[in-house]
Amino acid sequence: MSATILDGKKLAEELRAATAAEVAEFVRTTGVTPSLAVVLVGDDPASQVYVRNKQRACEHSGIFGRVHHLPAGVPFAELQELIERLNSDKTVHGILVQLPLPKHLDAGRIIDMLNPLKDVDGFHPENLGRLAQGRPRFLPCTPQGVQHLLLHYHLLPEGARVVVVGRSDIVGKPLALMLMQRGAGGEATVTVCHSRTRNLPDLTRSADVLVVAIGRPRFVTADMVRPGAAVVDVGINRVAEGLVGDVDFENVRKVAAWISPVPGGVGPLTIAMLLRNTLLAARLQQESFSSE
Ligand code: NAP
Repeated sequence: MSATILDGKKLAEELRAATAAEVAEFVRTTGVTPSLAVVLVGDDPASQVYVRNKQRACEHSGIFGRVHHLPAGVPFAELQELIERLNSDKTVHGILVQLPLPKHLDAGRIIDMLNPLKDVDGFHPENLGRLAQGRPRFLPCTPQGVQHLLLHYHLLPEGARVVVVGRSDIVGKPLALMLMQRGAGGEATVTVCHSRTRNLPDLTRSADVLVVAIGRPRFVTADMVRPGAAVVDVGINRVAEGLVGDVDFENVRKVAAWISPVPGGVGPLTIAMLLRNTLLAARLQQESFSSE
């Protein structure tokens, strides 16, 4: 048996085309062009690639994307001043601070400062709190991409046993919250595993849907996967041969029924969701300004 590929790349292309059409309609009816400000601090090569891809994706969708590049040693007060300026600039609808930040800058404090209506990453406590309460505003982009992929392939029936490996604030934790909510895209029975989990393979083998987001190249091996399961690999790891995920793709695909590749799986969907969130931010701000 060889697993069916969960084609995130193709799905992302379709989503981006739909978003571009919605952006064009928004511009036509409001005269406002949705815009995203990306804040990049320092010269981390991976972050630079991610930021460039995001800006390019904005341009292709009719969204105005602007990168604010600050030097690695920028003082906290200067970054704070930029965030405050972007928060109050009515022509900026979404703000994204590219993580990780250099060590001297506290990412949590910076995220707390964002205007929650412009927090297109969905990391602000108000947005995560709303998600936990089942009344989300911005869903974090990577978990939203994973959920969309699973829904598209009809892999989230009610009561599905989902195991999420990784409990980060940007992937594992919000994804678990999303999949356990009531309603479409939720209703799963979710187990979250992390580096202190005991008997990890026993848990991963219990999954109908196994999502892995740990940042360890090819960590999940075929013996950790139940035959017929769906496996979503969020990991992006740079190794000598190039980019690989957290799942041993070549061997796990022989056991699983469904598997997402790296690259070409969750990554493109993350960017597609960022564009959707930016359009949503523009809509929300347009509504709040027109009711002022
Ligand atoms: P992170 O913040 O480093 O968190 C890693 C999580 O994995 C932690 O919860 C950690 O447990 C857990 N973990 C580490 N080693 C483990 C092990 N041996 N067994 C079980 N759990 C283990 O990582 P992240 O930001 O969530 O990113 C995870 C991966 O996804 C990375 O490869 C990253 O590049 C990738 N990523 C991809 C996208 C995309 O768009 N495709 C977006 C974001 C991230 P503890 O909490 O106990 O330390």
